[in-house]
Amino acid sequence: MRILDLTLANIRAMDTEAIVIRIITPSGDMDSAVDSPALLNFNDLLVAIRDVMPEATVTAFEYEDEVGDRITVRSDEELKAMLSYYFNTMNEQRINGLLPDPLQIFPRAGKTPGIRNIHGLKVNTRPNPANDCTHSIPDSMTNNSLKKSSAELKRILTNGQINAQDIHYQEQLGHGNGGTVYKAYHLQGKRVLAVKVIPLDITVELQKQIMSELEILYKCDSPYIITFFSAFFVENRISICTEFMDGGSLDVYKRIPEHVLGRIAVAVVKGLTYLWSLKILHRDVKPSNMLVNTRGQVKLCDFGVSTQLVNSIAKTYVGTNAYMAPERISGEQYGIHADVWSLGISLMELALGMFPYPQDPPVFPVGQFSEKFVNFITQCMRRQPKERPAPNNLMDHSFIAQFNDGNAEVVSMWVCRCLEERRALQAQGHV
Ligand code: ATP
Ligand code: MG
Repeated sequence: MRILDLTLANIRAMDTEAIVIRIITPSGDMDSAVDSPALLNFNDLLVAIRDVMPEATVTAFEYEDEVGDRITVRSDEELKAMLSYYFNTMNEQRINGLLPDPLQIFPRAGKTPGIRNIHGLKVNTRPNPANDCTHSIPDSMTNNSLKKSSAELKRILTNGQINAQDIHYQEQLGHGNGGTVYKAYHLQGKRVLAVKVIPLDITVELQKQIMSELEILYKCDSPYIITFFSAFFVENRISICTEFMDGGSLDVYKRIPEHVLGRIAVAVVKGLTYLWSLKILHRDVKPSNMLVNTRGQVKLCDFGVSTQLVNSIAKTYVGTNAYMAPERISGEQYGIHADVWSLGISLMELALGMFPYPQDPPVFPVGQFSEKFVNFITQCMRRQPKERPAPNNLMDHSFIAQFNDGNAEVVSMWVCRCLEERRALQAQGHV
């Protein structure tokens, strides 16, 4: 149940504002005006759909979220969540001076699913003629993709362009060692993005190498990994466009209670396991690279898929990474176990509400945390890499197993409450 998107402003808009719902069917689209969306219920809409598709047995319908994933609606609650999502999108479009699109719904009946971009694949296929300094994804890369492509992929390739001039920057979300992250709106794709802009003084050759190393991001398809849309160079800056997470990163939250942290830990372990299955080491596991949203999703970002990018940023980076495993700090070879250390120290920080002084074994205040949790962190932070849990042991650990229940609502409610508190403090001028 996604009640949490229902902000007061949206509920008010729903009371007063008429909307157009577009029913997409194999034989054509059908628009219907809804004067009072707040009064609309699931059954009414189902009856309207059945009128348009009398030959089919329709019991549910879907809509597309900001990353193109289809979300099923089968109840009044889910209908409310969809309307709330739609009002948010309408607001974004208005802020950007656009006329809102109708709310598109896709009845679920028989064999109707169209071609779907299951990977959220977005490839910038043509160089930007307006700016000679802009390098879109290099030809070698798009050609490769096209060779592999089916009709579906071609459609995706021509649909999924993000060019520098189509991005409306809205506000700065944060600033790290490498670059600056902005919230932005992509006009064509009609979606909110997080765009990380990193200044890099490197040759065009290196730029091309980075772009091809980033290619693997198009293949990442996991609910625990941030969706990657596109990357491009403009002059000496690379912009990396990803899914926007409205809860931001975990480093700015205060102490996280164990029943919430447990669900977060499950998602992070699943995200890491997914990356490792693609032979990708994260290399930068820390709270600021764990993002959450009001839907209760937890996703990893900023993993090191491009050696060139990591090296180029490292040249301007000063200081040590406090979350690094001891074997990395001492310059030894490292692998998956180094990510496991960083996972342990990150979760410990999130539980304590402050960065822990790493001791061997880690020390927790007496009586505040469960034995399972303390045992999990202690295992992850073993000095000897091989003594730390292997991927399957992480999932099987009793701390992870007990919270692996798919309950996104716990995280969702916690994120919403924290955001509310933050807003209230800001309103009082405390932040
Ligand atoms: P470092 O540069 O050491 O990795 P960092 O992770 O804090 O530090 P950035 O990766 O530049 O730095 O991110 C800056 C901030 O932007 C993050 O802390 C986070 O709050 C915000 N941010 C990054 N990506 C997103 C996103 N996809 N959605 C929402 N907020 C984001
Ligand atoms: Mg980061």
